[in-house]
Amino acid sequence: MKKVFLWIISVLCGLIALLCLTNLPASWGGLLFAVPAVLINPKIRDLFEQKNVKLKWPAYLAAFLVPFVCFTGSMAALSPAQSVVQAPSSLVSSASISASSLASSDKTISSKPAPSTASTSVALASSQPVPTVQTDAKLKVHYLDVGQGDSEFVELPNGQTMLIDAGNPENGPEIISYIKNLKHNKIDYLIATHPHADHIGGMADVINAFTVGQMYMPRTSEADTPTTATYKGLLSTIKSKGVSVHTAKAGVSLFSAGNLSANLIAPCSTDYNDLNQYSAVMMLQYGDDKFLFTGDAGEPSESQITANVKADVLKVGHHGSSTSTSQAFLNKVKPKYAVIEVGAGNSYGHPTAATLSKLQNIGATIYRTDKDGTIIFTSDAKTITVDKKASTVKPQAPPSSNSATGTAGVVTGASSKSNGETVSKPTPPANNGDEITVYITDTGKKYHRDGCRYLNKSKHAISLSDAKAQGYEPCSVCDPPQ
Ligand SMILES: [Zn+2]
Ligand SMILES: [Zn+2]
Repeated sequence: MKKVFLWIISVLCGLIALLCLTNLPASWGGLLFAVPAVLINPKIRDLFEQKNVKLKWPAYLAAFLVPFVCFTGSMAALSPAQSVVQAPSSLVSSASISASSLASSDKTISSKPAPSTASTSVALASSQPVPTVQTDAKLKVHYLDVGQGDSEFVELPNGQTMLIDAGNPENGPEIISYIKNLKHNKIDYLIATHPHADHIGGMADVINAFTVGQMYMPRTSEADTPTTATYKGLLSTIKSKGVSVHTAKAGVSLFSAGNLSANLIAPCSTDYNDLNQYSAVMMLQYGDDKFLFTGDAGEPSESQITANVKADVLKVGHHGSSTSTSQAFLNKVKPKYAVIEVGAGNSYGHPTAATLSKLQNIGATIYRTDKDGTIIFTSDAKTITVDKKASTVKPQAPPSSNSATGTAGVVTGASSKSNGETVSKPTPPANNGDEITVYITDTGKKYHRDGCRYLNKSKHAISLSDAKAQGYEPCSVCDPPQ
């Protein structure tokens, strides 16, 4: 009878020890249950007795007490991180959610993502952990002046970074030095809103210069897929650097942790017949403050968005063109601030008077990169402040850009300081105002015209005067300006 009882206890202890082993890191302490399991086992006791080893009762007591103390101790230590133990099962469920949401291509996933669904889809989109936000940490959105093109660099309050678009091909090196001057060496989230050269132009350079976490691009229909050299170059860079690319579309969550989240709310379709409409549209939220990024999305895409688009800051679609920022969409967004990324004197007539007056009528304060240079919004999760600085990204920025606006933003004293921290070229006052851009390579001693075959391996934009000043000679094949 006593033997049966001992067998039961022995097997029980053994089971507990086994359970702990399979559920690591639940409790290393539980593993100590193996000790009483062995000591109590009548079979093993017989072995001991055969060898004339008598175990006294304090040995048994210790054998039981030690595992109990260790087990309860380790459980108490682990309890704040219970989620770690739970992770495997919740990951499985979120993975199945993600698989189904990815599979259902055109279906737009519910408008206002409930916090729970949002956080499950985090696991799907980005496998990297999202660091927690320190209280009083700031979110900074830099609307980079890249001339006629888009690029927005985001410093997240958790220390991570995001780059939405990378301007034109010649902007690549300038965007890189801007980000490096902010002491970042990683882009955690890279978003190519759509494959037009004024958005993905500098992206290959960016991928080569930084460690890239997750990249997002929209999937275009076969007929709409571009065949441009810029796009092909980007794809081959993505491949060679092994960057993981996710499909950008409505319903995808980049991350959601506490009061910080980034969700894609467009494109809602997979066939538009117009590349601009494929633009990834993103809502970035930090506490009470919401930033909406639209790429070049126009009315066709705007009208399909079912998510809540109410935002404090709107990156105005398609450089302020008349085909974007429909009244119906603007009524829903109701932005306090509108940012237009546009090049001075561009040939497209961007931004149009119609769009400007719509923005004014809704009460938005308008910022434009052609007049304000790079514009920096800072959010502490409750209030937003605005800072402008003379363009440090676009070399040909007008020198007067700092004083030119009549807009009523909070211009802090940071502009002079931030000017100092950027290396990029000072605006050359001479040269009749129109600086000529040429291209150099990593190793060559010649400068080239855009498109020259010598630019296949490496290509960096530089002003003609800088190229000459640095001793570069004109290429004899492409005959660049001299
Ligand atoms: Zn564009
Ligand atoms: Zn475009």
